[in-house]
Amino acid sequence: MHELTVTEEILRIVKEYAGETRVTDIYLVIGELTSFIDDSIQFYFDLLSPDTAAAGARLHFHRIPTRFRCRQCSGEFAPSDHRWHCPTCGAIGGEVIAGKEFYVESIEVV
Ligand SMILES: [Zn+2]
Repeated sequence: MHELTVTEEILRIVKEYAGETRVTDIYLVIGELTSFIDDSIQFYFDLLSPDTAAAGARLHFHRIPTRFRCRQCSGEFAPSDHRWHCPTCGAIGGEVIAGKEFYVESIEVV
């Protein structure tokens, strides 16, 4: 999904919950594994929000680090750029249990 689509979705959700009430802050949760870039979302937000109740609202980005669960030993670990091995048994990769999140956590209104 592209940041434009994502930002339109954010504004849709905010409108659904806030209606015409002016929104001051929007808290987003974004997993590290999503390719969404904060600056791009901010860019599209600045472009799309002026005629909405969310005009001028501050975006807050909460990044969720990636976590794997090992398929061999069920141990949980945080992979890094150069290390996707389970630190317990050495198996490569695993099931993604965190890092793919993307949602609006909360909004603040006037
Ligand atoms: Zn393991």
